[in-house]
Amino acid sequence: PRSAAGLARGLAPAPRSSSVVTVQRRFVQDVQITRTGKPIISIQGGRSSLGGHTATVFGATGFLGRYIVNRLARAGNTVVVPYREEMTKRHLKISGDLGRVIFIEMDLRNKASIEESVRHSDIVYNLIGRNYPTKNFDLDDVHVWGAERIAEAVAKYDVDRFVHVSSFNANKHSPSEFYRTKGLGEEAVRRIFPETTIVRPAPLFGYEDKLLNTLAGVSNLFTSNGMQQRFWPVHAIDVGMALEKMCYDDSTAEQTYELYGPTNYSMADIAALVDKEIVKHRRHINLPKKLRQPVLELMNRLLWWPVGSADEVEREFIDQVIDPSAKTFADLGIEPAELKSLTYQYLLPYRSAAYYDLPPQTEREKREERKYLHVID
Ligand code: NDP
Repeated sequence: PRSAAGLARGLAPAPRSSSVVTVQRRFVQDVQITRTGKPIISIQGGRSSLGGHTATVFGATGFLGRYIVNRLARAGNTVVVPYREEMTKRHLKISGDLGRVIFIEMDLRNKASIEESVRHSDIVYNLIGRNYPTKNFDLDDVHVWGAERIAEAVAKYDVDRFVHVSSFNANKHSPSEFYRTKGLGEEAVRRIFPETTIVRPAPLFGYEDKLLNTLAGVSNLFTSNGMQQRFWPVHAIDVGMALEKMCYDDSTAEQTYELYGPTNYSMADIAALVDKEIVKHRRHINLPKKLRQPVLELMNRLLWWPVGSADEVEREFIDQVIDPSAKTFADLGIEPAELKSLTYQYLLPYRSAAYYDLPPQTEREKREERKYLHVID
C-alpha cells in the first residue's frame, strides 16, 4: 500500500502481492543498573546518542584527557570537566552534542569544588599528574594528597566507579620522586575506595605528547644516560579507548591495568626514528647527572615555565618494568598500535617544506629535481 508520505513524493503504489508488512524490531534502547541502583539508559543515534553515564574527568585539560572526553561525549555521555584555567578547556566543549560537556571550576585545595565535581556522576576518572614540582604543588601534593581528596569525595558520594590514572613504574620504593608518589597515590586511593581501577600507562605518544615532540624539538639538547632508558611506548588513542571500555565494563573495577605498546625501545632508538622522519639530525649532549640535577633544580625554582626537573634526570636511569600480575590491553580486547607505524603522521609538521610528498608536478619541478619523499616507504 502506498503511504501518505509516498503519495506526497509521487511514488508508484506497491504491487498487491508484496503488501505483506514486515515489522522490524530494532533494539535501540538498553538499560543497565549500576552498583548503587542508578539506571543507565543508552540510546544510539550518532552525535545525538544518549550514553546514559555521567562521568567526571579530572585532568581532562591535559594531553590524555581529550582522548577520553572525546570518546565519552561523542557516545552521548554527560562529561563533567573540572578545570583551573578558562583557556585550557575550550577545545573539549565540541567533543559532544550541546550540553554534553559541562565545566566546573575546581582547585585541589578547595574540597567543596571537588565534591561539586563528582556528586552527580556514576564514574570518576582522575588523570591529574605533573612531571615536575610547581610553586604551589609539589609531586606529593598532586599525586598523593590530591588523589586522596578526590577518592574521599568519590567515597563520600558513593560514586559507582573510580578510575585512577597512575604511571608505569609506580612504586613507593622507587629512587624517582615521580614514581614514588605515583606508587603512594595508588595505595592511598585503594585504601579510601577499594573498588578503584588503577591504570598505569607507559610513556604516551600522540599529537600533543612529550615524547616525539620533545625528541623532534631543538631544546632537547642535554641527556644524562645517553638515552639508554628502555620502555614500551603506547598510543594515547589506545589508552583513551581502554579508559572508555572501563566505563562500560564493571568487571574492570578493583583491577590494575598496565597499558603498554607492543615493542620495547630505548630512547635512542626512538630518537633515530624521529630524526629519519623529520629528515633532520637533532644533537644530544651527554652531561653527568650530578651536574644537570642542581642546575635544573635551580632553574625550576626561578623560572615559571617548564624547564625539566632533577627528577626527570633521575628517571632517565630507570627502565620500564612490567608488573606481571597486572592486566593489560589483551584483557580489554584491544590491540595496541605500533609506534613505528605512526611516526609519519605525528612528525610531519617538523619536516622542512623543502621536502615534497608528491612526485614532481610540473616541468620546472622535474628540471630542478626537487627532492621528494614518498609517503609509503
Ligand atoms: P598533562 O600534564 O598533559 O595533564 C595533566 C593534567 O593534570 C592537566 O589537566 C592539569 O591541569 C592537571 N593538573 C596538574 N596539576 C594539577 C593541580 N595541582 N591541580 C589540578 N589539576 C592539575 O598529563 P598527561 O595528560 O600526559 O597525563 C595524564 C595522566 O597520565 C597523568 O596523571 C600522568 O602522570 C599520567 N601518565 C602520563 C604519561 C605520559 O607519557 N604522558 C605516562 C604515564 C603516566 P591544568 O591543565 O590546569 O594544568
